[in-house]
Amino acid sequence: MRYLVLSDVHANLAALEAVLADAGAVDGIWCLGDLVGYGPDPNECVERLRPLVEMCVAGNHDWACIGKLDISDFNADAQRACCWTQRALSPASCAYLEMLPQILIQGDYTLAHGSPRYPIWEYLFHSLDARENLAYFQTPYCFVGHTHMPLMFRLDDDTVETIVPTPDGEYSISAGRWIINPGAVGQPRDGDERASYLVLDTAELTVTFHRVAYSIEETQQRMTEAGLPPRLVARLSYGW
Ligand code: ZN
Repeated sequence: MRYLVLSDVHANLAALEAVLADAGAVDGIWCLGDLVGYGPDPNECVERLRPLVEMCVAGNHDWACIGKLDISDFNADAQRACCWTQRALSPASCAYLEMLPQILIQGDYTLAHGSPRYPIWEYLFHSLDARENLAYFQTPYCFVGHTHMPLMFRLDDDTVETIVPTPDGEYSISAGRWIINPGAVGQPRDGDERASYLVLDTAELTVTFHRVAYSIEETQQRMTEAGLPPRLVARLSYGW
């Protein structure tokens, strides 16, 4: 089976459509949270993904935008975008985001937004944090998002190997335990402005990372028209 694994769409419909088109036919879609927040199309992204996703977990922005999370820790731009999204979200979108779980487990795969230890909040940038999380999931594989950077940790009892995947790089995950981040669809932060995702092949036990260009200008224009913060508009151009 081939699964499209994506995260951090952040209400960027143009980026989401580009990813769905680029990935083509898959057997299922797994979403690692933050469907909304930052971008101009929260309802459109929820409605687009809702019938497609086989599994979807909640992100911190999903919770914040439905008032389920205190946003005083967000920076000023994120707070403004969150308040805009709270006003824009339809009752149906809110109801969908409200029911998203923090963790999902299917067979050999655990899904969480931030980490299996603290699913909503923890950022997994470093190998030590990844290693500590080994005790918090039981499956061989855990997919996370939240950092907006594609990254893999291969974990043994004694060592943690950190792998920064290359675009179009295919990696075998047949040995060891893994924490794998597909990067962000709607607001990449690794210096590559293209939307990021991966395809998991559960028969071959491989993950293949992909980047796809989308109309950044289209999203930026809609953000500006919506009155979203200029810094959030500009960062899409730089992948940061
Ligand atoms: Zn995010």
